[in-house]
Amino acid sequence: MENKQYKEISLFGLINISLIGTTSLNFKNIKKFILTNISKQLFSNIDIIYLYDLKDSETKAYYDSGMIVINLPLIKDDKDFIKTLLHELIHSQLDVIKNSNTIEMVIQEYLRKRGKVLNKLLTYNNSDPKFNSNYANLEYDQEFESYLKDKITYQIVYPVSHIYFPSPYAISSIDEYLCIGFEIYLLENKSWLEEFCPELYKLIENTIGGI
Ligand SMILES: [Zn+2]
Repeated sequence: MENKQYKEISLFGLINISLIGTTSLNFKNIKKFILTNISKQLFSNIDIIYLYDLKDSETKAYYDSGMIVINLPLIKDDKDFIKTLLHELIHSQLDVIKNSNTIEMVIQEYLRKRGKVLNKLLTYNNSDPKFNSNYANLEYDQEFESYLKDKITYQIVYPVSHIYFPSPYAISSIDEYLCIGFEIYLLENKSWLEEFCPELYKLIENTIGGI
C-alpha cells in the first residue's frame, strides 16, 4: 500500500505521471509494463499525466491538449490503469490515425454496424426522435450516449451489439470505436478484432508502426 500524498513517476525520462492522493496501484509494475509494451511514440503528444481525485465526476479519464487526467478513485487496479492510459494515448494520436488512407472504410464499417445495432434496439426506444436522427452521426453526443447507457441500459445494449462492437461505449462515436479498437488490439484480443471489425483491424495493423 502506497501512502504518499504526492508522487512523480518519470516515463522515458520525458513524461511525468503526477500522482496526488493515495492509491494501492503498483507503479513499479505499471512502469515496467509501459516501458516494455507501449511504444514511446504513443506519448509524443503528451507533456504530463495527472492522476488524482476528480471529486464527484463520472469521468474516468480525459485527454486535453498535451495533458492526460485520470480520475484515481475510478481506477480498479494496475491493469485498469494501463487500459485507461492507453485509451487516452490513442485519443492523443487520433489526428494521425484518422489521416490513414483506409479511414473511410472504417467509417463505413462503423456506420453499418451502428445502423444494425440501432435497428435491433428499435423496440426499446419508442420512436424517440433523438434516437432516430442518430443513425449517421459520427461524433460523440452526450445525450445519445446516456440514452444507450442509462435509459436503454448497457445490459440490453451489450447482447445486441457484442458481435459488432468491442464494447457498448464503442458505439458512441467513431473516435471511441477507434480508441477501443486499439485498446483491444494492444492489450486484449487481436483475433476477435480481426474477425468482427476487419476494417478497423486493417487500419490498426497499417498505423501501429507509425505511431
Ligand atoms: Zn475515449
